[in-house]
This record gives sequence, C-alpha cells and structure tokens, in this order.
Amino acid sequence: MSRLPVADGPFFAPRGRLAAYSLRVSLLQQCNFSCPYCLPGAVAPYTPKADWLRADDYARLAPLFAARGITKVRFTGGEPLLRDDCAGVVAAFHAAMPGADLALTTNGSRLAGAMGALRAAGLRRLTVHLDTLRADRYPQLMGPGDLGAVLAALGDARGTFDEVKLNTVVQRGVNDDEVLDFLDLSARLGVQVRFIELMNTGSADGYVHDVFKAGAEIVRDVSRQRRVEPIGRAEMSDPATLFRVVDTGVVFGLIASDTQPFCAACDRLRLTADGRLRGCLYQAGGVPLGSLLRSGADDAQLAALIDVGLDDKRSYHPLSAPGRVPFSMADVGG
Ligand code: SAM
Ligand code: SF4
Repeated sequence: MSRLPVADGPFFAPRGRLAAYSLRVSLLQQCNFSCPYCLPGAVAPYTPKADWLRADDYARLAPLFAARGITKVRFTGGEPLLRDDCAGVVAAFHAAMPGADLALTTNGSRLAGAMGALRAAGLRRLTVHLDTLRADRYPQLMGPGDLGAVLAALGDARGTFDEVKLNTVVQRGVNDDEVLDFLDLSARLGVQVRFIELMNTGSADGYVHDVFKAGAEIVRDVSRQRRVEPIGRAEMSDPATLFRVVDTGVVFGLIASDTQPFCAACDRLRLTADGRLRGCLYQAGGVPLGSLLRSGADDAQLAALIDVGLDDKRSYHPLSAPGRVPFSMADVGG
C-alpha cells in the first residue's frame, strides 16, 4: 500500500481555536450489518444502552456547542437508525441550534420508515452508505438487508432532504468493477457519490491490506473510460476532492484519507455514544463530557470541559503521530 507523507506538516500539537467546527455524533456502536473492513472487529466493548447520551442530554450540550462555533452536526454510529430515539436526538439539536446544518449517515436498511420523522425533526442532509449495486454481493459486502428497498429509499430521500449523497468504499477485486455503475446511478438519481479509500484503523488489518485501493487509482480507473476533470474541494474542510465527468457533467467525490490526508484543514470534533469529546478520529479517550453531565454538573462546568477539548484539538493520524490503538470506525462513529 503506497502512502504519501502528510503534505503540510505534522499536526501532533494543539491547533488553537478554529472559527467554526463540525461535530460527528456517534449514537451507538452497534450495527445490524457487518461490512468486512468495519465489523465484526470492534475492539472496544460496546457502550451499554444505559450509558448512551439521551435526547435531553444532547439538549443540554447543543447550546454550548453552538456558542463555540459548531455549525454542522452529523449523526452516525454504528447504525444510527437502530436507535428508536434517533429523530428525537435530531430534534433536540434542531431546537437548540436551529441554524445548524444537520446530517446523518446510514446504511439505509431502516431508512424508508424513518425518513419522515427525521425530516420533521430538522434533518437536512443524508448520506447513504452503499458498497455494491449487485444483489448477489450485497449480503457479503454489507449485510442481510434488501438492496432493492435501500435503492427505493434512496430515490425517495432525494425528494425528502435538501441533499443526499452516497458513500462507497472502493475495494480492489471486490467492488472496483462497479465504479461506473455508481456514476450512472448518481446521474439517474441526482445523488452525488463519494468514493472512499479504505482506512486501516487496525481492526481488520488483513482484509484492508488485501483489498486496499489508493484514491488516485480509483480516479485513474474512471479516467480510462470517461473524460474526467478535477474541480477541487467544495470547502477547505471538506474531506472530499471533487471531479467532473466531462461528457455527462456528473460530479463525484474522492475521500483519500491515508494517501491524501487532510489533517491541516480538519475542523471535526467527535462525540462518542457515552459522551467523550475527541478532536481526531484516531484519538483515544477524549474529554469525559458524558460522565460530567451525569454527575450533575452545571452548564459552566460542561462548557469549561468542552473548551479543554477544543484547545487540545490536534491530529493523531498515524502519519503525524506514529503508533496507534486499533479501532473499528463503528467504535468511534465513522
Ligand atoms: N452505519 C452507517 C453507515 O455505514 O453509513 C454509519 C457508520 S459507518 C462507520 C460510516 C462510514 O464509515 C461508512 O460510509 C463506511 O463505509 C465508512 N467506513 C467504515 N470503516 C471504514 C474504513 N475502514 N475505511 C473507510 N471508511 C470506512
Ligand atoms: Fe455497520 Fe456502517 Fe460499519 Fe457497515 S460501515 S458495519 S453499516 S457501521
């Protein structure tokens, strides 16, 4: 696997305050699917349901986040739609920060029944993760779901939310022959697809090593069959670099976290299911907002702890901070 050095220097030092942040809220680690690079392979024990932050906990924290420049929130997991109170959590954020851009990432298996409540709760954007368009591959690459139902829900979602995107993790010899099919679907549904390069988070080391395909190769595959031009990033902090298929005008994204790391522009914070705030996907631990909340702390104490997390934001990417603790993306919230 080829890896380039982090382009713009080491960031294993606190970054200082940013003007704006985006927050990824992991609602749980559990999932009903088992994508081979993600689950099984969870390294950390799952947070028990009793320790999950609840809608009223988020309602306490959201105004404090808003006051510190958090303008975007994405709900993820595990599979966020396994939580019955998912729309309630979205509503709690929407009430506390009505101007915020609220989004959710899902495997789509429970999307059809959840869409209306999510939209009514204030969700604006949706990302559906789909690694294959072939029914014969779906069970092995994702899980025991119904691909036809996910595709139908994806079409309906386009009419429900302001923006719908697709996440597709491209794996060599596994689904990399479907890249053009995904671009066709993208054109048909008006849904932007983002091709994701596998990240080796350590929990599925052998699998990732065997099927890793670098982002540049993914774009090269498309370019062999379609004329493609680079566009750049929609926003500096957006992990996706955009490309346009010249003949059709279809725009697709490439997220290549390991071969083209974007740590320098990262504005992400992460909140685990039990309320630990982290400044980096690769960071272990984090500041324990959840336990402070449960101990009966007041808003000033919670705000002070959030500030500790913000002041400590730095990159723990293995390329800037060698050494790692293995984890699955589902442990942290991908
Ligand atoms: N279950 C939901 C889903 O699949 O969209 C939300 C959680 S999942 C961890 C979020 C995203 O992380 C998915 O698009 C998934 O493909 C991606 N992901 C998980 N493990 C990954 C890895 N090792 N490398 C790159 N992307 C990964
Ligand atoms: Fe579940 Fe999402 Fe992980 Fe797949 S990527 S196993 S759907 S959490």
